Amino acid sequence: MFEFRTVPEVIVGESISLQLPELIQTRFDARKIALITDAALRATHLLDPIIAAFTSAGIEVYVFDGVVADPPESVVKQAIHRTRDAGAEVVVGIGGGSSMDVAKLVAAFAASEQDLAHAYGIDKVSGRRLPLVQVPTTAGTGSEVTPIAIVTTGETTKLGVVSNKLYADLAVLDPSLTLGLPAMVSAATGIDAMVHAIEAYTSKIKKNPISDGLAREALRLLSGSLVQVCTNGRNVAARTNMLIGAMLAGQAFANAPVGAVHALAYPIGGIFHVPHGLSNALMLSPVIRFNLPAAAPLYAELAQVVIPDVTGSEEAKANAFIDFLGRLADQVGIARRLSQVGIQPADVPMLAENAMLQQRLLVNNPREVTFGDALRLYSEAL
Ligand SMILES: [Zn+2]
Repeated sequence: MFEFRTVPEVIVGESISLQLPELIQTRFDARKIALITDAALRATHLLDPIIAAFTSAGIEVYVFDGVVADPPESVVKQAIHRTRDAGAEVVVGIGGGSSMDVAKLVAAFAASEQDLAHAYGIDKVSGRRLPLVQVPTTAGTGSEVTPIAIVTTGETTKLGVVSNKLYADLAVLDPSLTLGLPAMVSAATGIDAMVHAIEAYTSKIKKNPISDGLAREALRLLSGSLVQVCTNGRNVAARTNMLIGAMLAGQAFANAPVGAVHALAYPIGGIFHVPHGLSNALMLSPVIRFNLPAAAPLYAELAQVVIPDVTGSEEAKANAFIDFLGRLADQVGIARRLSQVGIQPADVPMLAENAMLQQRLLVNNPREVTFGDALRLYSEAL
Protein backbone atom coordinates (compact mmCIF):
# COMPACT_ATOMS: atom_id res chain seq x y z
CA MET A 1 0.00 0.00 0.00
CA PHE A 2 1.16 3.51 -0.72
CA GLU A 3 -0.39 6.92 -1.07
CA PHE A 4 0.49 9.70 -3.50
CA ARG A 5 -0.79 13.27 -3.51
CA THR A 6 0.07 16.43 -5.38
CA VAL A 7 -1.48 19.71 -6.56
CA PRO A 8 -4.45 19.45 -8.92
CA GLU A 9 -3.12 21.77 -11.63
CA VAL A 10 0.21 22.96 -13.04
CA ILE A 11 0.66 25.47 -15.88
CA VAL A 12 4.07 25.91 -17.54
CA GLY A 13 4.97 28.57 -20.09
CA GLU A 14 7.25 31.47 -20.90
CA SER A 15 5.73 34.76 -19.61
CA ILE A 16 2.64 32.83 -18.41
CA SER A 17 2.77 34.84 -15.16
CA LEU A 18 1.41 37.83 -17.09
CA GLN A 19 -1.77 35.80 -17.59
CA LEU A 20 -2.27 35.29 -13.84
CA PRO A 21 -5.32 37.63 -13.79
CA GLU A 22 -7.21 35.49 -16.37
CA LEU A 23 -5.98 32.24 -14.80
CA ILE A 24 -7.31 33.39 -11.42
CA GLN A 25 -10.54 34.98 -12.68
CA THR A 26 -11.64 31.89 -14.59
CA ARG A 27 -11.03 29.68 -11.56
CA PHE A 28 -11.89 31.71 -8.47
CA ASP A 29 -13.84 34.80 -9.53
CA ALA A 30 -11.82 37.13 -7.26
CA ARG A 31 -11.88 40.93 -7.15
CA LYS A 32 -8.99 41.26 -4.72
CA ILE A 33 -5.88 39.14 -4.31
CA ALA A 34 -2.91 39.13 -1.93
CA LEU A 35 0.58 38.78 -3.39
CA ILE A 36 2.99 37.30 -0.83
CA THR A 37 6.64 38.02 -1.63
CA ASP A 38 9.92 39.47 -0.33
CA ALA A 39 11.31 42.99 -0.56
CA ALA A 40 14.38 41.99 -2.59
CA LEU A 41 12.26 40.45 -5.33
CA ARG A 42 9.93 43.45 -5.35
CA ALA A 43 12.95 45.76 -5.70
CA THR A 44 13.96 43.99 -8.94
CA HIS A 45 10.71 45.26 -10.54
CA LEU A 46 10.09 41.72 -11.81
CA LEU A 47 6.63 41.89 -10.25
CA ASP A 48 5.64 45.28 -11.72
CA PRO A 49 4.23 43.92 -15.02
CA ILE A 50 2.30 41.24 -13.12
CA ILE A 51 0.78 43.79 -10.74
CA ALA A 52 -0.04 46.04 -13.73
CA ALA A 53 -1.77 43.11 -15.45
CA PHE A 54 -3.98 42.55 -12.37
CA THR A 55 -4.84 46.24 -12.18
CA SER A 56 -5.83 46.44 -15.84
CA ALA A 57 -7.99 43.34 -15.39
CA GLY A 58 -9.83 45.17 -12.59
CA ILE A 59 -8.40 43.03 -9.81
CA GLU A 60 -7.13 44.86 -6.75
CA VAL A 61 -3.74 43.70 -5.46
CA TYR A 62 -2.55 43.79 -1.87
CA VAL A 63 1.23 43.21 -1.79
CA PHE A 64 2.85 41.81 1.35
CA ASP A 65 6.61 42.01 0.70
CA GLY A 66 7.79 41.38 4.27
CA VAL A 67 8.86 37.75 3.78
CA VAL A 68 12.47 37.01 4.83
CA ALA A 69 14.53 33.80 4.56
CA ASP A 70 13.69 31.26 7.28
CA PRO A 71 10.55 33.30 8.08
CA PRO A 72 10.00 33.99 11.81
CA GLU A 73 6.55 33.36 13.26
CA SER A 74 6.05 37.12 13.76
CA VAL A 75 6.40 37.72 10.01
CA VAL A 76 3.98 34.90 9.21
CA LYS A 77 1.40 36.32 11.65
CA GLN A 78 1.81 39.80 10.20
CA ALA A 79 1.23 38.45 6.68
CA ILE A 80 -1.90 36.61 7.85
CA HIS A 81 -3.38 39.63 9.65
CA ARG A 82 -2.64 42.11 6.88
CA THR A 83 -4.11 39.82 4.22
CA ARG A 84 -7.23 39.36 6.37
CA ASP A 85 -7.54 43.14 6.89
CA ALA A 86 -7.07 43.73 3.15
CA GLY A 87 -10.01 41.41 2.43
CA ALA A 88 -8.13 39.38 -0.18
CA GLU A 89 -10.06 36.50 -1.72
CA VAL A 90 -7.14 34.63 -3.31
CA VAL A 91 -3.52 34.25 -2.12
CA VAL A 92 -0.66 34.23 -4.64
CA GLY A 93 2.80 33.23 -3.37
CA ILE A 94 5.56 34.51 -5.61
CA GLY A 95 9.27 34.05 -4.87
CA GLY A 96 11.49 31.33 -3.42
CA GLY A 97 10.60 28.70 -0.84
CA SER A 98 10.13 31.17 2.02
CA SER A 99 7.57 33.31 0.17
CA MET A 100 5.64 30.25 -0.98
CA ASP A 101 5.73 28.75 2.54
CA VAL A 102 4.34 31.96 4.03
CA ALA A 103 1.67 32.10 1.27
CA LYS A 104 0.52 28.60 2.28
CA LEU A 105 0.01 29.73 5.88
CA VAL A 106 -1.68 32.98 4.84
CA ALA A 107 -4.14 31.02 2.67
CA ALA A 108 -4.76 28.57 5.52
CA PHE A 109 -5.27 31.12 8.31
CA ALA A 110 -6.44 34.47 6.86
CA ALA A 111 -10.04 33.24 6.56
CA SER A 112 -9.96 30.76 9.44
CA GLU A 113 -10.70 31.01 13.16
CA GLN A 114 -7.80 28.68 13.95
CA ASP A 115 -4.61 30.04 15.54
CA LEU A 116 -1.31 29.23 13.81
CA ALA A 117 0.12 28.08 17.16
CA HIS A 118 -2.29 25.12 17.15
CA ALA A 119 -1.36 23.98 13.65
CA TYR A 120 2.27 22.88 14.05
CA GLY A 121 2.73 19.20 13.34
CA ILE A 122 0.96 16.91 10.93
CA ASP A 123 -2.68 17.30 9.78
CA LYS A 124 -3.62 19.92 12.39
CA VAL A 125 -4.95 22.61 10.00
CA SER A 126 -8.73 23.10 10.17
CA GLY A 127 -11.17 25.72 8.94
CA ARG A 128 -11.69 27.49 5.64
CA ARG A 129 -8.71 28.05 3.35
CA LEU A 130 -8.48 30.75 0.71
CA PRO A 131 -7.63 29.66 -2.86
CA LEU A 132 -3.85 29.44 -3.28
CA VAL A 133 -1.71 29.98 -6.39
CA GLN A 134 2.07 29.46 -6.24
CA VAL A 135 4.59 31.05 -8.62
CA PRO A 136 8.24 30.04 -8.00
CA THR A 137 11.00 32.45 -9.01
CA THR A 138 13.83 30.00 -8.22
CA ALA A 139 14.17 26.39 -9.39
CA GLY A 140 14.92 24.57 -6.18
CA THR A 141 12.59 24.13 -3.23
CA GLY A 142 9.62 22.64 -5.08
CA SER A 143 7.53 24.40 -2.42
CA GLU A 144 4.86 25.12 -5.07
CA VAL A 145 3.87 21.45 -4.95
CA THR A 146 4.59 20.45 -1.33
CA PRO A 147 2.18 20.50 1.66
CA ILE A 148 4.80 21.76 4.13
CA ALA A 149 5.56 25.22 5.55
CA ILE A 150 8.54 25.77 7.85
CA VAL A 151 8.41 28.56 10.45
CA THR A 152 11.29 29.80 12.64
CA THR A 153 9.76 29.86 16.13
CA GLY A 154 12.83 30.56 18.29
CA GLU A 155 16.43 31.67 17.86
CA THR A 156 17.29 28.68 15.68
CA THR A 157 14.33 26.37 16.25
CA LYS A 158 11.97 25.64 13.41
CA LEU A 159 8.55 24.05 13.38
CA GLY A 160 6.70 22.67 10.41
CA VAL A 161 3.05 22.79 9.45
CA VAL A 162 2.31 19.73 7.34
CA SER A 163 -1.20 19.42 5.96
CA ASN A 164 -2.94 18.46 2.74
CA LYS A 165 -4.66 21.83 3.08
CA LEU A 166 -1.36 23.50 2.17
CA TYR A 167 -1.34 22.05 -1.35
CA ALA A 168 -1.83 24.89 -3.82
CA ASP A 169 -4.83 24.91 -6.17
CA LEU A 170 -2.56 25.95 -9.01
CA ALA A 171 1.21 26.10 -9.61
CA VAL A 172 2.37 28.47 -12.36
CA LEU A 173 5.88 27.88 -13.72
CA ASP A 174 7.20 30.82 -15.74
CA PRO A 175 10.87 30.47 -16.77
CA SER A 176 11.07 34.17 -17.68
CA LEU A 177 10.92 34.96 -13.93
CA THR A 178 14.14 32.97 -13.37
CA LEU A 179 16.28 34.34 -16.25
CA GLY A 180 18.04 36.93 -14.07
CA LEU A 181 18.99 34.63 -11.18
CA PRO A 182 22.71 34.91 -10.33
CA ALA A 183 24.82 31.84 -11.20
CA MET A 184 25.49 31.01 -7.54
CA VAL A 185 21.78 31.06 -6.66
CA SER A 186 21.00 28.94 -9.71
CA ALA A 187 23.72 26.47 -8.68
CA ALA A 188 22.70 26.19 -5.01
CA THR A 189 18.95 25.95 -5.64
CA GLY A 190 19.48 23.52 -8.54
CA ILE A 191 21.63 21.21 -6.42
CA ASP A 192 19.03 21.38 -3.64
CA ALA A 193 16.42 20.18 -6.15
CA MET A 194 18.75 17.35 -7.23
CA VAL A 195 19.15 16.34 -3.57
CA HIS A 196 15.34 16.25 -3.25
CA ALA A 197 15.19 13.82 -6.18
CA ILE A 198 18.08 11.65 -4.91
CA GLU A 199 16.79 11.48 -1.33
CA ALA A 200 13.20 10.77 -2.47
CA TYR A 201 14.54 7.91 -4.60
CA THR A 202 16.36 6.37 -1.62
CA SER A 203 13.66 7.27 0.97
CA LYS A 204 13.43 4.29 3.30
CA ILE A 205 9.78 4.15 4.30
CA LYS A 206 7.64 5.92 1.70
CA LYS A 207 9.58 5.38 -1.54
CA ASN A 208 7.04 4.30 -4.16
CA PRO A 209 6.86 3.76 -7.93
CA ILE A 210 5.26 7.16 -8.63
CA SER A 211 7.78 9.18 -6.61
CA ASP A 212 10.55 7.06 -8.20
CA GLY A 213 9.44 7.98 -11.71
CA LEU A 214 9.19 11.66 -10.81
CA ALA A 215 12.60 11.62 -9.09
CA ARG A 216 14.32 9.99 -12.08
CA GLU A 217 12.87 12.47 -14.58
CA ALA A 218 13.63 15.36 -12.20
CA LEU A 219 17.26 14.27 -11.96
CA ARG A 220 17.54 13.86 -15.74
CA LEU A 221 16.24 17.40 -16.37
CA LEU A 222 18.17 19.04 -13.53
CA SER A 223 21.53 17.40 -14.20
CA GLY A 224 21.19 18.11 -17.92
CA SER A 225 20.55 21.84 -17.54
CA LEU A 226 22.36 22.92 -14.36
CA VAL A 227 25.64 23.91 -16.01
CA GLN A 228 23.77 25.71 -18.78
CA VAL A 229 21.72 27.92 -16.41
CA CYS A 230 24.86 28.75 -14.42
CA THR A 231 26.86 29.80 -17.48
CA ASN A 232 24.10 31.10 -19.77
CA GLY A 233 21.34 32.27 -17.44
CA ARG A 234 19.09 33.55 -20.21
CA ASN A 235 18.67 30.14 -21.87
CA VAL A 236 14.88 29.80 -21.62
CA ALA A 237 14.81 26.09 -22.51
CA ALA A 238 17.35 25.27 -19.78
CA ARG A 239 15.52 27.49 -17.26
CA THR A 240 12.27 25.67 -18.12
CA ASN A 241 13.93 22.28 -17.57
CA MET A 242 15.18 23.43 -14.17
CA LEU A 243 11.73 24.69 -13.09
CA ILE A 244 10.02 21.46 -14.21
CA GLY A 245 12.80 19.36 -12.64
CA ALA A 246 12.53 21.18 -9.31
CA MET A 247 8.75 20.76 -9.36
CA LEU A 248 8.93 17.03 -10.15
CA ALA A 249 11.48 16.59 -7.36
CA GLY A 250 9.08 18.49 -5.07
CA GLN A 251 6.24 16.14 -6.01
CA ALA A 252 8.54 13.18 -5.31
CA PHE A 253 9.77 14.27 -1.88
CA ALA A 254 6.32 15.52 -0.79
CA ASN A 255 5.43 11.80 -0.87
CA ALA A 256 8.80 10.10 -0.25
CA PRO A 257 10.54 12.42 2.24
CA VAL A 258 14.20 13.47 2.23
CA GLY A 259 16.84 11.99 4.57
CA ALA A 260 20.30 12.55 6.02
CA VAL A 261 21.63 15.12 3.53
CA HIS A 262 18.84 17.46 4.61
CA ALA A 263 19.06 16.41 8.28
CA LEU A 264 22.76 17.32 8.36
CA ALA A 265 22.27 20.43 6.20
CA TYR A 266 19.59 22.01 8.44
CA PRO A 267 21.95 22.84 11.37
CA ILE A 268 24.42 24.44 8.92
CA GLY A 269 21.62 26.74 7.74
CA GLY A 270 20.10 27.26 11.19
CA ILE A 271 23.31 28.05 13.09
CA PHE A 272 25.59 29.53 10.41
CA HIS A 273 22.91 31.08 8.15
CA VAL A 274 24.25 29.30 5.09
CA PRO A 275 21.57 29.22 2.35
CA HIS A 276 19.58 25.96 2.23
CA GLY A 277 20.80 24.86 -1.20
CA LEU A 278 24.45 25.46 -0.38
CA SER A 279 24.12 23.61 2.96
CA ASN A 280 22.85 20.59 1.06
CA ALA A 281 25.62 20.83 -1.55
CA LEU A 282 28.19 20.75 1.29
CA MET A 283 26.83 17.50 2.79
CA LEU A 284 25.83 15.68 -0.41
CA SER A 285 29.05 13.79 -1.19
CA PRO A 286 29.90 12.62 2.35
CA VAL A 287 26.34 11.41 3.00
CA ILE A 288 26.01 9.56 -0.30
CA ARG A 289 29.34 7.81 0.26
CA PHE A 290 28.17 6.89 3.77
CA ASN A 291 24.90 5.51 2.35
CA LEU A 292 26.64 3.29 -0.22
CA PRO A 293 26.51 0.04 1.80
CA ALA A 294 22.70 0.40 2.04
CA ALA A 295 21.82 2.17 -1.21
CA ALA A 296 24.40 1.25 -3.88
CA PRO A 297 21.77 -0.48 -6.09
CA LEU A 298 19.60 2.65 -6.05
CA TYR A 299 22.53 4.97 -6.79
CA ALA A 300 23.48 2.61 -9.65
CA GLU A 301 19.96 3.09 -11.07
CA LEU A 302 20.31 6.86 -10.79
CA ALA A 303 23.72 6.65 -12.50
CA GLN A 304 21.92 5.27 -15.56
CA VAL A 305 19.68 8.35 -15.55
CA VAL A 306 22.48 10.93 -15.50
CA ILE A 307 25.11 8.92 -17.47
CA PRO A 308 23.06 6.87 -19.98
CA ASP A 309 26.12 4.95 -21.27
CA VAL A 310 27.47 4.03 -17.82
CA THR A 311 28.74 0.43 -17.62
CA GLY A 312 30.24 -1.92 -15.05
CA SER A 313 29.14 -3.53 -11.82
CA GLU A 314 26.51 -2.08 -9.51
CA GLU A 315 29.26 -0.76 -7.27
CA ALA A 316 31.10 0.82 -10.22
CA LYS A 317 27.90 2.52 -11.39
CA ALA A 318 27.14 3.84 -7.89
CA ASN A 319 30.67 5.26 -7.69
CA ALA A 320 30.25 6.78 -11.16
CA PHE A 321 27.12 8.51 -9.85
CA ILE A 322 29.03 9.99 -6.90
CA ASP A 323 31.84 11.15 -9.21
CA PHE A 324 29.30 12.69 -11.59
CA LEU A 325 27.74 14.75 -8.77
CA GLY A 326 31.18 15.90 -7.61
CA ARG A 327 32.17 16.99 -11.12
CA LEU A 328 28.87 18.83 -11.56
CA ALA A 329 29.38 20.72 -8.28
CA ASP A 330 32.90 21.68 -9.38
CA GLN A 331 31.68 22.77 -12.83
CA VAL A 332 29.17 25.21 -11.32
CA GLY A 333 31.75 26.39 -8.77
CA ILE A 334 29.74 25.72 -5.61
CA ALA A 335 31.58 25.40 -2.28
CA ARG A 336 32.00 21.77 -1.19
CA ARG A 337 33.85 22.18 2.11
CA LEU A 338 32.45 23.43 5.42
CA SER A 339 35.64 25.45 5.98
CA GLN A 340 34.69 27.53 2.92
CA VAL A 341 31.62 28.83 4.79
CA GLY A 342 33.56 29.55 7.99
CA ILE A 343 32.84 26.32 9.91
CA GLN A 344 35.71 25.16 12.18
CA PRO A 345 36.55 21.69 13.58
CA ALA A 346 35.36 22.92 17.01
CA ASP A 347 31.85 23.46 15.57
CA VAL A 348 31.41 19.80 14.58
CA PRO A 349 29.98 18.44 17.90
CA MET A 350 27.33 21.17 18.03
CA LEU A 351 26.35 20.49 14.41
CA ALA A 352 26.14 16.75 15.07
CA GLU A 353 23.98 17.27 18.18
CA ASN A 354 21.58 19.41 16.20
CA ALA A 355 21.48 16.98 13.29
CA MET A 356 20.40 14.20 15.66
CA LEU A 357 17.31 16.28 16.50
CA GLN A 358 16.18 15.86 12.88
CA GLN A 359 14.77 12.36 13.50
CA ARG A 360 11.76 13.24 11.31
CA LEU A 361 14.21 13.20 8.36
CA LEU A 362 16.81 10.71 9.60
CA VAL A 363 14.22 7.90 9.70
CA ASN A 364 13.94 8.21 5.90
CA ASN A 365 17.66 7.72 5.31
CA PRO A 366 18.57 4.34 3.76
CA ARG A 367 21.29 3.82 6.41
CA GLU A 368 20.95 4.59 10.11
CA VAL A 369 22.93 7.68 11.18
CA THR A 370 24.25 7.68 14.77
CA PHE A 371 25.75 10.63 16.63
CA GLY A 372 29.20 9.18 15.91
CA ASP A 373 28.36 8.92 12.21
CA ALA A 374 27.21 12.55 12.16
CA LEU A 375 30.49 13.63 13.80
CA ARG A 376 32.47 11.73 11.14
CA LEU A 377 30.35 13.07 8.26
CA TYR A 378 30.80 16.71 9.31
CA SER A 379 34.53 16.14 9.91
CA GLU A 380 34.85 14.65 6.42
CA ALA A 381 33.13 17.72 4.96
CA LEU A 382 35.39 20.25 6.74
ZN1 LIG B 1 15.94 21.08 0.19
